[in-house]
Amino acid sequence: AHLDRIDAVDPKVHAYLHVDRDGALAQAAEADRRRSAGEDVAALTGVPIAVKDVVTTKGLPTTAGSRILQGWIPPYDATLVTRLKQAGMPILGKTNMDEFAMGSSTEHSAYGPTRNPWDLERIPGGSGGGSAAAVGAHLAPLAIGTDTGGSIRQPASVTGTVGAKPTYGGVSRYGLIALASSLDQAGPCTRTVLDSALLHEVIGGHDPMDSTSIDAPVPPVVEAARRADVTGLRIGIVRELTGDGYAPDVQRRFDEAVALLTDRGAEIVEVSCPHFEQALAAYYLILPSEASSNLAKFDAMRYGLRVGPEGVERPSAEQVMAATRDAGFGDEVKRRIILGTYALSAGYYDAYYGQAQKVRTLVARDFAAAFEQADVLVSPTAPTTAFKLGDKLDDPMAMYRNDIATIPANLAGIPGLSVPAGLGDDGLPVGFQVLAPATRDELMYGVGAALE
Ligand code: GLN
Repeated sequence: AHLDRIDAVDPKVHAYLHVDRDGALAQAAEADRRRSAGEDVAALTGVPIAVKDVVTTKGLPTTAGSRILQGWIPPYDATLVTRLKQAGMPILGKTNMDEFAMGSSTEHSAYGPTRNPWDLERIPGGSGGGSAAAVGAHLAPLAIGTDTGGSIRQPASVTGTVGAKPTYGGVSRYGLIALASSLDQAGPCTRTVLDSALLHEVIGGHDPMDSTSIDAPVPPVVEAARRADVTGLRIGIVRELTGDGYAPDVQRRFDEAVALLTDRGAEIVEVSCPHFEQALAAYYLILPSEASSNLAKFDAMRYGLRVGPEGVERPSAEQVMAATRDAGFGDEVKRRIILGTYALSAGYYDAYYGQAQKVRTLVARDFAAAFEQADVLVSPTAPTTAFKLGDKLDDPMAMYRNDIATIPANLAGIPGLSVPAGLGDDGLPVGFQVLAPATRDELMYGVGAALE
């Protein structure tokens, strides 16, 4: 049914870059066989899923939304894909995204934008707009996203879906094409909080292939989502992530959700995180720095595209490398490679990268202090509802500012969840963000489920 719906609807939405009809049907048949043979199957066995194209899938094209990886077929599965397969979840296909996960609108995909199912003239968020749109348009019941600065939560916010970024290290990064290794985290994109928790259980947990993977059991997220209990919980409103800069209708839906949590027995406190004002600037130095290093491996020799420089008869390796990277990377990727290389260069390192790392520590300390006053923190997920395609494409700073509320969690490595909080005055979805202390992911699922 999902494959048929993809055929009918996806030409308009463009959530998928690749659909694996035969593979998905074979995996579904295998899940049926396991169930009817009376095997001990998981809750999600047989439930199909879409996977963001930054996650390697053995035998299936994986481009990360970039021309430089056109035609590359990975020889191995990411650990999270292995776990989906072990759980018997058929993989429907790979979803569209901003190139190498850089962006907030999916307009930076080399393969054309994804559209928001609520209004095809609007963006589905980014970088994981394909996964969110697929789930929102019922082109998949579940999807995998990755969140380096908000790419699971912000697309969830603008498509009226649920998006969960686990604690850093909670889901293996092995087989994820790295954007910024100290910030990247994979997680669920779903329509309900319980679905996210169930999926989190499947993909989470320790992996010896990822040195930053947490060596502890998955937090009790499913139980918390089922209980949906906020009685006596101290919920902190982050002063710096509300009010000014947030659209009035977004702010109203946020206030209503907070009132609902009060009705359900939560206690509301206000907290201040003074260094969040510098978080965006720090993120946009740390991310490009790490990205410039991670993207150095796309050298025309090892993966995907190879372009010979025009008019050169016997080009050197360096000339091929330069021509390939020029043709293979889009503008946003080049912008960040240049920025990151500059920030890391001798003489500038202390002034930029070094300073940004200090701000990162201050942001983490702000969180630590706030979590002494509150069990979880809340804010709107994004400052506005979905903007129009093209609106911010020529204004990188405006695009970056859209991440103001999601970025602090990545800098500190803490988990974050976005749940729908009704519609704005324009009839488009508004998202509500819940943040929890590191490794306490279950707390955010409990609060999110209480709002459903
Ligand atoms: N919008 C952010 C950026 O462009 C987030 C990216 C992400 O989470 N992958 O960096």
